[in-house]
Amino acid sequence: MTDFFRPNNLHEALEILKEYGERAAIVNGGSDIVISISQKKIAPDIIVYIGNLPELRYIREEKGVISLGGNVTYREMSHDPICQKAAGLMKAIANLGSPGVRAVATPAGNIGTAAPAADCATMLMALGADVVLANSKRERTVSLEDFYVGRNCTVKQADEIIREIRFSAIRQREGTGYCKAARRKAQDIGKVLAGVRVHLEKNIVREAAISLGALNAEIVRAVSLEEAIRGMKKETAYQYLKENFPAEAGLRESYFKEYKESVTKSIIAQAFSCALADAEKGRF
Ligand SMILES: Cc1cc2nc3c(=O)[nH]c(=O)nc-3n(C[C@H](O)[C@H](O)[C@H](O)COP(=O)(O)OP(=O)(O)OC[C@H]3O[C@@H](n4cnc5c(N)ncnc54)[C@H](O)[C@@H]3O)c2cc1C
Repeated sequence: MTDFFRPNNLHEALEILKEYGERAAIVNGGSDIVISISQKKIAPDIIVYIGNLPELRYIREEKGVISLGGNVTYREMSHDPICQKAAGLMKAIANLGSPGVRAVATPAGNIGTAAPAADCATMLMALGADVVLANSKRERTVSLEDFYVGRNCTVKQADEIIREIRFSAIRQREGTGYCKAARRKAQDIGKVLAGVRVHLEKNIVREAAISLGALNAEIVRAVSLEEAIRGMKKETAYQYLKENFPAEAGLRESYFKEYKESVTKSIIAQAFSCALADAEKGRF
């Protein structure tokens, strides 16, 4: 027998989690967790539905920071002019699931599941996103990189809700790009995912953030590549990414290793090329 709670506001939700956190499952859009429940992979005593908490439904840009409330959906993001400034984010969510999935599913859930091949979370890591976690007593902010501690594992405690995801707004001469290799064009788990945020100065890469999904137990930053291309001309950097495999990517010995190595380099280079085009399109 499972008890179902449908709190009316964040305070109520956090009080319920304070009392029952260890035995409860948070359901937001439900597109991941309801499947796990119906397949009996998890059997929570208590379900706390947070998909309609009014305090978590917002998209804001204030003082150079973009904030997504914890139950904002992909559909809402795709129609929002603030989110549309991040071209890579739009690309990452454009083909995530189906229109029906995107109408209910959330980036908070994408992060919360901590799957290695999560599209939105991969792009959010390249954007340098932070996660704001709230319980009934306090809030804390954790970088998305520190949020993950392995496959499907995070630092989130049972009594905490992802209240907000935030990242710095895209500045002048900055661009973002995303690329995914999968067997099908839609509704498929990616085999290699790459997100890029780049800052150009007179055709030189001043800063770059590169994230990789589906290659390790958790999403990672390709710091070796980021450092290597810093200060390079954009064309040289693109060539470098096409030719160099990231040291951070885990690749098991297998028949497909060589193929996957070459696909990874190509996907990263494509995401970088999209980010360059975005940085140069004179948005401002
Ligand atoms: C048909 C189909 C296709 C899909 N295709 C893709 C795809 O292409 N790419 C992809 O990345 N994913 C895909 N998914 C997976 C899923 O849709 C996404 O991961 C989605 O972002 C999950 O969001 P949700 O709100 O539905 O999460 P839920 O299922 O509600 O929750 C997922 C996990 O996060 C936790 N959680 C959710 N919100 C919060 C919060 N605010 N605070 C604390 N914990 C929270 C839950 O407790 C749970 O552990 C697909 C799913 C389906 C069913």
